Amino acid sequence: MNRRHFFTGSLAAAVTASLPASAYAQLLHSMTTVSSSIVGNTGDGAEVEIEQAAVEELKGALRGRLLLPGSDGYDVARRVLNPSIDRFPALIVQPSGAADVQNAVTFARERGLLLAVKCGGHSFSGKSTCDGGLQIDLSSMRHVRIDRGAQTAHVAGGCLLGELDHEAMAHGLVTTAGTVSHTGVGGLTLGGGFGRLARKHGLALDNVRSVDIVTADGQLRHASADENPDLYWGVRGGGGNFGVVTSFEFQLHPMDRTVIAGDVVLPIERAKEFMRFYADYSREAPDELSLDFIMPSAPGQPGVAIIHAVWSGDPRQADRVLAPLNRIANPIANTIGAKDYVALQRTWDNSDPRQGGDYLKSGFVYDIDDRQIDAIIDGFEPHPDRATNFFFQASGGAIGRVPVDATAFPSRAAINAPTVVVSWNKGVDPDPHIAYIREYWATIEPFTRGFYINVEELSAGDSLVSNFEKNYERLVSVKNEYDPTNLFRLNSNIKPTV
Ligand SMILES: Cc1cc2nc3c(=O)[nH]c(=O)nc-3n(C[C@H](O)[C@H](O)[C@H](O)COP(=O)(O)OP(=O)(O)OC[C@H]3O[C@@H](n4cnc5c(N)ncnc54)[C@H](O)[C@@H]3O)c2cc1C
Repeated sequence: MNRRHFFTGSLAAAVTASLPASAYAQLLHSMTTVSSSIVGNTGDGAEVEIEQAAVEELKGALRGRLLLPGSDGYDVARRVLNPSIDRFPALIVQPSGAADVQNAVTFARERGLLLAVKCGGHSFSGKSTCDGGLQIDLSSMRHVRIDRGAQTAHVAGGCLLGELDHEAMAHGLVTTAGTVSHTGVGGLTLGGGFGRLARKHGLALDNVRSVDIVTADGQLRHASADENPDLYWGVRGGGGNFGVVTSFEFQLHPMDRTVIAGDVVLPIERAKEFMRFYADYSREAPDELSLDFIMPSAPGQPGVAIIHAVWSGDPRQADRVLAPLNRIANPIANTIGAKDYVALQRTWDNSDPRQGGDYLKSGFVYDIDDRQIDAIIDGFEPHPDRATNFFFQASGGAIGRVPVDATAFPSRAAINAPTVVVSWNKGVDPDPHIAYIREYWATIEPFTRGFYINVEELSAGDSLVSNFEKNYERLVSVKNEYDPTNLFRLNSNIKPTV
């Protein structure tokens, strides 16, 4: 994207014509108002001129904020967690509620503008930001209301998982959320939502009772089993393809605040033995037991193998259920014990996510056998310049008991989602590390079928069609009805056919 296309005002054009790109970027950031029209990008990549009067009109129609390059807060809003992504929207709307979202969607549609929707900003490939388009940054929509009697949570479309956990647990209630508290409820839920309670209560999306959603025509709709049922079906697994969800209604479940949880850590040399144990133990695990297998390494460190266990069932059963794990001889550490669930949900938070770069590959597996274990352990290489992480996120249990066609989410029978991530520090050449992870993944991929759209965010294409299996056709028909011009395309994109 050529940033010079954002402004065509006479002053900007005259001053910037002679500036190198870096100086131009500085100038862009120092500007606080637009004195003329803006040139943005359409969804198809063409330039589109947005008149100053239209921008002013949009600004006047909002109760929330309109940010332009140089506005206070523009840089925070445009950025996503992955520091490799550095994009510059032409305009950013921070809505105060659904009415602002309607204004922003209508503004983008009428001009054919590329549209990005950001909740937590955890999209690895940066689907929630864009160059030259309009970004709707939902960070100003973060309220959670718990209905204790109905055991439901009404969660605004920009909320982070930690906010949901915090408010729900204050009433002794929970629902499935992911494992890092600053992940967005929006992206996580619309694509799936694995977490420490998923084997017990299903994916986050299995707990969605209804949504309020602004579709491409600017209408605010309610979607539930009884109202707009096709839309309700599609938003549960189809990602952000159908509109901007301004509010989720989640089913909650009573749970003690204290769970029995922790890590058993072994040296990397025992990783094969440990993964074999994991394969057998997790196969027989009750739904209330969540088990992840993780191999992290820091630059220059050999790495370790970890089983992260969370027992959210009856505490009186914990000793019996966790006995096989607790019997593992000579661990480097065993931290299993009583833990505050909400605090546990924050333990994997990254306090300084912008210190380097990340690249990952992921898929679903339906069994774990010795050949797969050999490929995973033999290919795992600690390195002086990078951190490698292998991660098996537990699936199965209640997730697998939902029929494949009940929601758009297809991979119900998977038992684990292996993910390999490489991270490097700022200033390190990423190419060899990306090449390494691709090579490593090539040895694991043959054991996988399908992938998790929230992690392996393909734009479109054959693999997306086969990933959704028989649900793809119905997704296309929902897309045709609610977003026939593909306004919402920055996601694992279902192409409309009308
Ligand atoms: C550190 C980390 C930990 C993770 N842990 C887990 C985990 O435990 N379990 C799990 O299942 N996944 C996990 N993920 C993957 C996660 O589910 C995806 O990255 C997800 O897309 C993040 O959602 P977000 O709202 O933060 O992202 P964003 O980047 O804000 O959005 C991602 C996508 O969702 C769309 N979107 C977001 N909100 C809305 C909305 N309200 N309406 C319409 N569209 C919307 C965006 O347009 C974009 O296409 C993790 C990711 C990271 C980076």
